[in-house]
Amino acid sequence: RVIVGTKVDQNHQNWVTAYNMLTGIRFVVSRINAKMDRELTPADFNAKHKFSFDITGNELTPSAKYDFKFKDYAPWVFRSLRAKFKLDPADYLMSLTSKYILSELGSPGKSGSFFYFSRDYKYIIKTIHHSEHKLLRKILPDYYKHIESNPNTLISQFYGLHRVKMAYGRKIHFVVMNNLFPPHRDIHQTFDLKGSTVGRDLREENLEKNPRATMKDLNWLRRGRHLEEGPMKKEVFMAQLRRDVRLLQRLKIMDYSLLVGIHDLGRGNEEKLRDKTLQVFQPGGDRDDDPSTLLTRTPSKLENARKARELRLTLKRERPVPIQQTAAKMPDEILDERKNMVFYSDDGGFRATHENGQPGEEIYYLGIIDCLTPYGIVKKAEHFWKGLSNSRSQISPIPPEQYGERFINFMEGITMSREEAERLEQARADG
Ligand code: ATP
Ligand code: CA
Ligand code: CA
Repeated sequence: RVIVGTKVDQNHQNWVTAYNMLTGIRFVVSRINAKMDRELTPADFNAKHKFSFDITGNELTPSAKYDFKFKDYAPWVFRSLRAKFKLDPADYLMSLTSKYILSELGSPGKSGSFFYFSRDYKYIIKTIHHSEHKLLRKILPDYYKHIESNPNTLISQFYGLHRVKMAYGRKIHFVVMNNLFPPHRDIHQTFDLKGSTVGRDLREENLEKNPRATMKDLNWLRRGRHLEEGPMKKEVFMAQLRRDVRLLQRLKIMDYSLLVGIHDLGRGNEEKLRDKTLQVFQPGGDRDDDPSTLLTRTPSKLENARKARELRLTLKRERPVPIQQTAAKMPDEILDERKNMVFYSDDGGFRATHENGQPGEEIYYLGIIDCLTPYGIVKKAEHFWKGLSNSRSQISPIPPEQYGERFINFMEGITMSREEAERLEQARADG
């Protein structure tokens, strides 16, 4: 089975779903952004709002191409989260507006999730299982508090939680989150690491077919790879990782991974030398099979600025909102303040360092992903079956406490400067 990313255009089988998702997002996000800022209340975390869209439109919703229902969850909370993550409201809307076609990383893996990338590659829409949806709603207050007290968290940044339902269709839950990988840099290698070795291997022949397929723990170890950080940056990284994992343990979450994208500065941007407007990327997957190739066009800065301006104007035209409200919520220029987030501060990532603190040859793009799986009945069943044939601590679905501990130990063990790794290697060779 080969997963190939495709542009979602009018001929795509999920075009209507994608179109409705974007139409819904655009409507609910503009709606909440237009309101005056206020303090969050406990009720905001449970809030849900339902909207009906149809081709004629009504007093509440504008006309849409198709009939569908859209549900928006905790809009005030997500508005506040987007602000904490330093997203520019106009920019967010622009990226997800229906005029810009998404790309789909199709053919779901065992989870059944679909991934859609915004055209500018900044955001990912992931369809999620009902149990993941319920979990996110339940943990939202804890997640929010964690973001507040951990501005440098490595855990996935959630920007919205929604549900779409087509006429006669089923309900589709989805989240909007950050794409960890930058639009402007080639990612030469990708790893999805859990700290387990059982079944954590991408067959090397798959890599011959696609050198950028997402690799796993065993591929990492086989290559003798390290997250090359000197002692100071290692400590910063491990301290944050420990805090993040502690939260996931407390919330009884498991099955998450550290996603690691590696940009090799020595190799630079190969594809882009050939064609600056074409971008190749492979989100790949935590799957036993193949990766994916996706072609998407990256708009230039100038083009972006123009589109943002246009969108702001359209938004102002579309909604007769009092002047002081729009003015406050639509700043013309927002500096990329993500630069202040430690792990995203070196060209959107975390640069390797040598033992002496000198910058290294790689940039890492890091984050904890797939962190909405509750340790429920499904996992317990899997635990039982896998437990029959594999050694206990190595099987992937162990309880959340141990899962987190194993995860941390693995990351601790692979994070060291190149110099330290070489000394260890030497010591091993010397016996
Ligand atoms: P499974 O449950 O089978 O592991 P899933 O459908 O829940 O799969 P994820 O594990 O969340 O999917 O992600 C699959 C792959 O998609 C990851 O290995 C990674 O390559 C890519 N991916 C997921 N989230 C992100 C992200 N935030 N940024 C960049 N790439 C991502
Ligand atoms: Ca996963
Ligand atoms: Ca999953």
